[in-house]
Amino acid sequence: MPKRLVGFLSRVFNGSKPPRAELRVIPREAHNVSRKDISPHALKVLYRLKDAGYEAYLVGGGVRDLLLGGDPKDFDVATNATPEQVKRVFGNCRLVGRRFRLAHILFGRDVIEVATFRAHHAADDTGDDDHVADDEDASLHGKTGMILRDNVWGTVEEDAIRRDFTVNALYYNIGDFAIHDYVGGMKDLEKKRLRLIGDPETRYREDPVRMLRAVRFAAKLGFTVDDGTARPIAHLKPLLHQVPPARLFDEVLKLLLGGYGHASWEWLERFGLDEVLFPDAGHVARRDPNARKFILAALDNSDRRIADGKSVTPAFLFAALLWPEVSRRYQQLLAEGMPDIPAMAQAGQQVLDEQCRVVAIPRRFSAPAREIWDMQLRLPRRSGKRAEAMLQSPRFRAAYDFLLLREDAGPLAREPQDIFAEQLGEWWSDYQQADTDERHAMVRELDARRQPGDNAGRKRRRRRRKPAN
Ligand code: ATP
Ligand code: MG
Repeated sequence: MPKRLVGFLSRVFNGSKPPRAELRVIPREAHNVSRKDISPHALKVLYRLKDAGYEAYLVGGGVRDLLLGGDPKDFDVATNATPEQVKRVFGNCRLVGRRFRLAHILFGRDVIEVATFRAHHAADDTGDDDHVADDEDASLHGKTGMILRDNVWGTVEEDAIRRDFTVNALYYNIGDFAIHDYVGGMKDLEKKRLRLIGDPETRYREDPVRMLRAVRFAAKLGFTVDDGTARPIAHLKPLLHQVPPARLFDEVLKLLLGGYGHASWEWLERFGLDEVLFPDAGHVARRDPNARKFILAALDNSDRRIADGKSVTPAFLFAALLWPEVSRRYQQLLAEGMPDIPAMAQAGQQVLDEQCRVVAIPRRFSAPAREIWDMQLRLPRRSGKRAEAMLQSPRFRAAYDFLLLREDAGPLAREPQDIFAEQLGEWWSDYQQADTDERHAMVRELDARRQPGDNAGRKRRRRRRKPAN
């Protein structure tokens, strides 16, 4: 056959046909997935489906994490029962999703998601995700016309090859406790390697978010990314701009606030995805070492909090990610003669507006992020009753933590050095520890050190173009 024809046929083949699957069964005695590590609710669902005569498997991250000796965050079930049939088996069942109906089996607040085996569909190609938001479903209907429901379901084998990475496509069969591997996932798991199922370029074009999923799993699992899976990202990364910004927001949270934010950022950098997702922040972080240090310190902070079981807020994270750029523009506006408070407001607004074109940060997170920035101007101003008032602010704690991070990372390019010399963070740490008398004394001491008139609020703000931040 002529070479060009072979090339053409292989492109057509790769573009339209799913890869062939070959089943390898790993019997119970040859793997470490034990029923005692599976959530009792998931087990109950698996057994009930089996007893009703259906095939039932545990699949996805649950199986992968158990095989790796980890503690899965959720357990997903796949079955040949249709959602309606699942509903008939369970009283506590709710069907969700428009395009692909899923069954949610409810146990109080715990939900076990049961998905019917699904075949690959050309119509899925704008992002076949079990968790696609309803509004995306709607737009998909708009673009592709009505999708008929009855030919959507498939066999377990078809279900396996439409998944993203081989290690995410391992099926634990409740019938005999064996693991079914259609795509070489076990070998990749042993080699600690992420590999997309099928032709990587095709799979990224179907759903560009898979590039971010590669980053997330590489960071979380400490895996390498197979060459063939890594290579196309360099030229396909602009496809992420076609993904709805709301979906990218969800993915960014999973990436950066999932407990492996620092490692995820480094993977983003390796693939050049930092500048795709965060055009300004990524750019500044690459040019200013202290900006990068600051962003990584914020991510370390979140990672540590998550490891300690503490809560993390997207507002703080976005405040930190965007701060180097906000600070840069703020300095610029000051230099153009704008007073500090409006300069900070405008810099923050501009940076958020631009960021939201790619990753839609909801207002409930962007508003507190802006408050954290504003408070960076107010934290140095502690005279009179101000320190006490600031302490009462609901945003004080976040703003103070933010200040400590800034001091740790050191001044950004072009940032004035005052707060760094003044050890403002330490002052605030002491202030919080102090009793009422001591607090008064701290403020008095501060006022005494200032020039007369220097602490006269408005006047001082007007006179001092460059505040101590
Ligand atoms: P985590 O532990 O973070 O939840 P997970 O592997 O369970 O990891 P989910 O996003 O919960 O990831 O998705 C569940 C499963 O659905 C995946 O393991 C994968 O098999 C499949 N999946 C999810 N998103 C995609 C996608 N965009 N393309 C193909 N398959 C996907
Ligand atoms: Mg999951």
